[in-house]
Amino acid sequence: MSLSLNRCSCAGAEYARITRSAWMRLFPSRRLYQCSECHARIFGLKKEMDALNWAMTTAKFFAAAAKPSPSGKSRF
Ligand SMILES: [Zn+2]
Repeated sequence: MSLSLNRCSCAGAEYARITRSAWMRLFPSRRLYQCSECHARIFGLKKEMDALNWAMTTAKFFAAAAKPSPSGKSRF
């Protein structure tokens, strides 16, 4: 498994925080993440990865909200 400074190109992936190695603590602005799709490990900037995860969560929320109601007939 490789370690990258940039995120992988998976669409719709979420990035879970995983435990850093000791040397990684020398880079306080970076955190270690693992892609939920390809399991690549990404030593990314925390603010960028947080923004990415936030965008993904928000996109899922709106996708769920946009689904047609299961109750049937539209009011319009
Ligand atoms: Zn990936």
